[in-house]
Amino acid sequence: MRYAAATDTGGRRSINEDGYFADGSVFAVADGMGGHLAGEVASELAIESLKRMGGANPARALLESFRKANKMIFERAGADEDRHGMGTTLTACIVDGRRLHIAHAGDSRLYRLRGGKLKQLTKDHSLVAQMVEKGHLTPEEAASHPQRSVITRALGAEQKIDVDTKTKEMAPGDRYLLATDGLTAVVDEEEVAEVIAAEGELEAATKRLIELANARGGPDNITVVVFDPEVEPKRRTIPWRAALLTTAALALLAAGGWLAWRYATNGVYVGVHNGKVAVYRGVPGDFAGFKLQEVVRETDIQVDRLPEPYKKRLEKGMPAESFEKADKTVADLAQLDRVKNR
Ligand code: MG
Repeated sequence: MRYAAATDTGGRRSINEDGYFADGSVFAVADGMGGHLAGEVASELAIESLKRMGGANPARALLESFRKANKMIFERAGADEDRHGMGTTLTACIVDGRRLHIAHAGDSRLYRLRGGKLKQLTKDHSLVAQMVEKGHLTPEEAASHPQRSVITRALGAEQKIDVDTKTKEMAPGDRYLLATDGLTAVVDEEEVAEVIAAEGELEAATKRLIELANARGGPDNITVVVFDPEVEPKRRTIPWRAALLTTAALALLAAGGWLAWRYATNGVYVGVHNGKVAVYRGVPGDFAGFKLQEVVRETDIQVDRLPEPYKKRLEKGMPAESFEKADKTVADLAQLDRVKNR
């Protein structure tokens, strides 16, 4: 698992209230808000809650850590006047084999880069996002709206938090990006996609994204986390086409073998068996280790006693058109034997 993370105060803020976490399994960004360092405390509490996450069910554990963080931040905000009104966004995911469990509240974002295309996997909980959804604003108008940073959901804002959760199937070659609005408010998605698709080194990609946001004035804290999950390609079953071809090839081979056997067994020849002349069904020799002939009739004619040219022809096998013709050949050989060895 390759991953990289970077955070920057930006060009206009004096402190960094963003937080992030990346450990090769859990990845998160948080964007805190509230005066007197309260935002910093809120995002820190959210990240700490993720670090303590545990349990057999990763998706469940992730959601539980959001709820615990919400409770903690809400209680702290109520108890401490300086922390009143503090809250934080939290966008987090956990790798679980091929699956990625996602939990999210606020306007930080999770993107997936697949096949060169960037897709936002989280929905912004912001005023402008709601207005876009209702058709009151275009996405372009929302991007420059004066109230674009007003969020409608945050950890610590209320006693109970409504968390968006989902699980996505990852694919080999996927790259994921988590970012706070310090990046997404000033660098458009096309540029983000270009940078993270082009950079082989993830650290270089995170640096480049922060540079870009700062080049646009860096009005807010900027935090980015990029990771490349190690997803094994799915084990492939034998494609039906290959299976069909294999079956067809096997059928052809079987048919060929059967034809060869038929061809062989249709043949008749006169040859040698245990030193004596014999009539065979089939053809001399073998095919792939299989004998292609069988003795049909043995005779008393000793091959040794026949004239030399016949011996050689018999060793090779003297083809006959039929059993009658073979019998005739045998009769001729018997006569030769009698003549020669009288
Ligand atoms: Mg922010």
